[in-house]
Amino acid sequence: MCRTAGRAERAPFDVLVVGAGPAGIAAALHLQRHDARWAERMLVLDQAHFPRPKLCGGGVTLYGEAELGGLGLDLPGSVRAFDVARVQLRFQELRMTWFERAGRVFRVVRREDLDHWLVGQARARGVTVREGVRVTDVRRESGGFLARTDAGEEIHCRVLLGTGGATGVVRKVVADPEQPARVSRLLEVLTPEPGASAAMSLREGSPCSTSRRSCAGSRATTGTFPAT
Ligand SMILES: Cc1cc2nc3c(=O)[nH]c(=O)nc-3n(C[C@H](O)[C@H](O)[C@H](O)COP(=O)(O)OP(=O)(O)OC[C@H]3O[C@@H](n4cnc5c(N)ncnc54)[C@H](O)[C@@H]3O)c2cc1C
Repeated sequence: MCRTAGRAERAPFDVLVVGAGPAGIAAALHLQRHDARWAERMLVLDQAHFPRPKLCGGGVTLYGEAELGGLGLDLPGSVRAFDVARVQLRFQELRMTWFERAGRVFRVVRREDLDHWLVGQARARGVTVREGVRVTDVRRESGGFLARTDAGEEIHCRVLLGTGGATGVVRKVVADPEQPARVSRLLEVLTPEPGASAAMSLREGSPCSTSRRSCAGSRATTGTFPAT
């Protein structure tokens, strides 16, 4: 049982999910799919307002789409995306090509669209997702956890899911202090390429689309979505 200070009488949450990205929403959707009654027994919080920016290449593999299908979800047209029909990898002596005659190797989506849509899907299934609420502190207590938010709330819960990323507040409580989070700096550049081929080429020393490459000692990610 989880209760929120000041609203204890209407807080029958057992699970508190901190972070409404794909991990948090997938966890909530899996619970809800297992038993629809879970929807009203959990609370999902995110410090951001969706759609929110997320640094990501946006590649969704066929395995990822199968996972979505397992949750009864199919990517809608509102999630901007393009198909990648062939992938070539050249690195030193390595040469690899993936292609799918019948369709795409994978799909590249706009993360802000995907995450926003996922939040909507969770809400449509009865899950409470609150945006603009940052969890500032979590600590263990008898029978579960206590989470504090920047709104001054104290939320007690039996199970706490920390899905706020490697630098998230939950990780600080449960992580091994000997293994601190590693933080990198990344730059994402979306370049307009009208009419660009759906094929994606990753090649050492050449521009690449929707991936990371070493760039003068730093890291860069470029995407090839049509200009909007
Ligand atoms: C450059 C780059 C390229 C990538 N490319 C790909 C790719 O092509 N394909 C792929 O599958 N993966 C890719 N990834 C990995 C992918 O982005 C992550 O695996 C994925 O976003 C993890 O999802 P998540 O839900 O765990 O975290 P996130 O998507 O980061 O969501 C975490 C959420 O928690 C919220 N949050 C954090 N702290 C708090 C707090 N204290 N209180 C409340 N809310 C909080 C944040 O606002 C955020 O919405 C890439 C990653 C990077 C960095």
